[in-house]
Amino acid sequence: MNYHSKSADQLRATQDELRKLYEQLQAAGLELDLTRGKPAPEQLDLSNELLALPGDADFRAADGTDTRNYGGVKGLLELREIFGELLAVDPADLIAFGNSSLELMHHLTTFAIIKGTADSTQPWGAGPVKFLCPAPGYDRHFAITEHYGIEMIPVPMNPDGPDVAACAALTAADPSIKGMWAVPTYSNPTGVTFSEEVTRGLLSMPAADDFRIYWDNAYAVHTLVDAAPTPLPVLEMAAAAGNPNRVYVLGSTSKITFAGAGVAFLGSSKANMDWFCKNISFATIGPDKVNQLRHAKFFGSADGVREHMARHRAIIAPKFKLVLDILDKRLSESKVASWSEPEGGYFISLDVPDGAAKRTIALAKEAGIALTAAGSAFPYRNDPHDRNIRLAPTLPSTADLEVAMDGVATCVLLAATETLLA
Ligand code: PLP
Repeated sequence: MNYHSKSADQLRATQDELRKLYEQLQAAGLELDLTRGKPAPEQLDLSNELLALPGDADFRAADGTDTRNYGGVKGLLELREIFGELLAVDPADLIAFGNSSLELMHHLTTFAIIKGTADSTQPWGAGPVKFLCPAPGYDRHFAITEHYGIEMIPVPMNPDGPDVAACAALTAADPSIKGMWAVPTYSNPTGVTFSEEVTRGLLSMPAADDFRIYWDNAYAVHTLVDAAPTPLPVLEMAAAAGNPNRVYVLGSTSKITFAGAGVAFLGSSKANMDWFCKNISFATIGPDKVNQLRHAKFFGSADGVREHMARHRAIIAPKFKLVLDILDKRLSESKVASWSEPEGGYFISLDVPDGAAKRTIALAKEAGIALTAAGSAFPYRNDPHDRNIRLAPTLPSTADLEVAMDGVATCVLLAATETLLA
């Protein structure tokens, strides 16, 4: 029965039943973790062939480059060609770098703070710097901006992407807004994919010349349905909108091959890439080309990546379905929660009654189920409604996931009765 239609007495009776369920949960002595979006061991196993590549006699790139040696800051062309297709970036405008796109985002930010961007008249750090932060969003994005003292301005996420009117009103009025975080495909944690209209709006809205959108296409190919959305050629679109330097396209193979030993990519206009390569040349003589070569050999082509992602899907889609089925079975009738039903990415975003997220997470913790800290998906960890919980279904085994999610559902319902009776 809908909890909102229950009398106080009925709610108290429901709460008593839930307390009993919760005590049983506590007594089970669980140690389960739904916190981080990591691939499960079986997903990592899909790429084990990489451990034997490129082989002890095979170290030359297609153009004859000896990958064992220094140099080639842009990375191997054959790998940039594969990921250029998947990210809709001309391989000439794309570099293949280290093992982490987050590292690239960090460098892009610190270089701009210290030196200014390709369009800045002074370093960002010479004045106040603000970033637009569609929320809920990715906690590690917000951690970079918070760490460097960049003021974060939350903007609402709609089902088709960030609220463009809200973004445009802010950037038009304030030239100290220098950046924006964006996860255009299967966004972390909402699962939202930006529409073409929203994308055009973000690319053309009035903003400072050195305003940059970090187009973090981390989940470009991570589909749970038959095909991932066709990536938009954002660099071409930005150029057509008269803002050729506005976008940094980012991506990586972290959740394609090995999360800790993959390859990250950065694509942007020639001016931005020259600026980045110049700055990064003080940090490195070049990326790990042997790793890039083995990735290129492992995939063979963009279709090779798509086929590989279908194998991931076969492992993780049943886990997502399991979580959604449990949420539906345990929570639908009560009408105290809503959740995303993502077609890709790594997360399910669960909204509980306002004011009940921290309590739900605390209850789960006391029962041995670790959930991402309340507010994590918001700038400064401040969920203004205290209602959002990010669920990461990929890492646990199916058996653990089932137990954990059933437990989470009990915690949600118990916390909801407490909020409604308060
Ligand atoms: N960007 C988003 C949106 C993510 O969700 C993640 C990982 O969860 C990353 C980037 C991390 O990427 P990388 O491993 O390439 O640093």
